[in-house]
Amino acid sequence: MHLGTTDPIHCGCARDSTGDLMPVDEALNRAIGAAGRITAAESVPLVEATGRILAAPVSASRPMPPFDASAMDGYALRSAALAGDGPWEIPVAGRVRAGDPPGPLPAGAALRILTGAPLPLGADAVVPQEQVGARGAGLRLRFRPRPGAHVRRAGSDLAEGVELLPAGRLIGPREVGALAAAGLRRVEVRRRLEVALLRTGSELTPPGAPLDPGRIWDSNGATLLSLLSLPWIRLQDRGTVPDDPAELRRALAAAAEGADLVVTTGGVSVGDEDHLPRAVTEAGGRILVNSVAMKPGKPLTFGQIGRASWIGLPGNPVAAFVGWTVVGARIAEAMAGLAGTGPRKAIVRSAAPAAHRPGRCEFRLARLVGYDAHGVQVAELLPGETSYRVALLARADGLALIPAEAGAVPEGTLLEFLPF
Ligand code: AMP
Ligand code: MG
Repeated sequence: MHLGTTDPIHCGCARDSTGDLMPVDEALNRAIGAAGRITAAESVPLVEATGRILAAPVSASRPMPPFDASAMDGYALRSAALAGDGPWEIPVAGRVRAGDPPGPLPAGAALRILTGAPLPLGADAVVPQEQVGARGAGLRLRFRPRPGAHVRRAGSDLAEGVELLPAGRLIGPREVGALAAAGLRRVEVRRRLEVALLRTGSELTPPGAPLDPGRIWDSNGATLLSLLSLPWIRLQDRGTVPDDPAELRRALAAAAEGADLVVTTGGVSVGDEDHLPRAVTEAGGRILVNSVAMKPGKPLTFGQIGRASWIGLPGNPVAAFVGWTVVGARIAEAMAGLAGTGPRKAIVRSAAPAAHRPGRCEFRLARLVGYDAHGVQVAELLPGETSYRVALLARADGLALIPAEAGAVPEGTLLEFLPF
């Protein structure tokens, strides 16, 4: 498709144009390289496998479909038995329905056949009922059918022994259907990733509880509980912890004890009360990534505490959301054994010019406003300095990506877009 004259800006997130901030791709590679992988598997009934991750490849134990069958309602016959030029008049010697066992085609005759019925032995074609004239107990055929016409061959969807789905595949409705068609009643999936979630900040109050002056309702807790409510995750809600170094140390150590991954929000920035990186190292952990060249989400931190990985998301709600969506989720997916191809991206055209300074890869809240003349979706980029604006986040449609090295973005630029 012709996209017009504006070239898409390619993602510059891998480029080191960022001083002491780590490029997003490098942060991801480092974290994914250091994080553990789940190898244990468990068997679950197929109907409970939705949203789980396939632990081993599955191959077809029989041809799919399992036998030659009619693709139409019509008449099964042997095309090679039609002598000379038509039209031919052929007796109809019986009827086969879906579910009947395959039987022989009587010599010199056709059989009435319904969609999904096994092709009679000796028949090689099906003539749809719309293409024949009825004639007493027979049919009148004017054209010679092509051998194989309207027949679904055994194994034409997938041959016996061929891989149906690879290990690491996220099981959705299509996968469940294909596995059922291959005859599986149970399926081997990876065990769930154990994720412990805690929020840090002395200002946090549970939503709905009375709000003392100077305090705020904890919105990150709800957002992350919602983001992490996935069938391949077992979530441990560890509540909120105040900005107290000793309490944080204790809470982190306890969370790391029973989890593959600890996710925290807040306390990773450079303020006086941002104690988390220290608490991690004092709890015996190590930090592998701090400060990523992304906006929002710069303070995002990754480390290890004992055998658990730790993702420290910033406290600002939009930064926490973007940090999880862009970085955290990729790490969790890799740990859980998901062989994904990364997030779904689209290309959008910016509706208006937008300011950007080179340095950090910017994930800008954006709203989809329509389509251009070529059918490309057009996005309005929302204001940039908004990492606290949880209400704006709820009203956006996705994140438009402004590459790290880009300057101001002219109107009409093609940008990568991560839909929500
Ligand atoms: P921090 O990263 O701890 O410096 O927090 C940055 C900003 O995000 C501050 O204004 C915090 O009050 C706010 N914040 C931190 N945690 C949460 C949370 N769980 N829910 C909503 N806002 C938060
Ligand atoms: Mg804080």
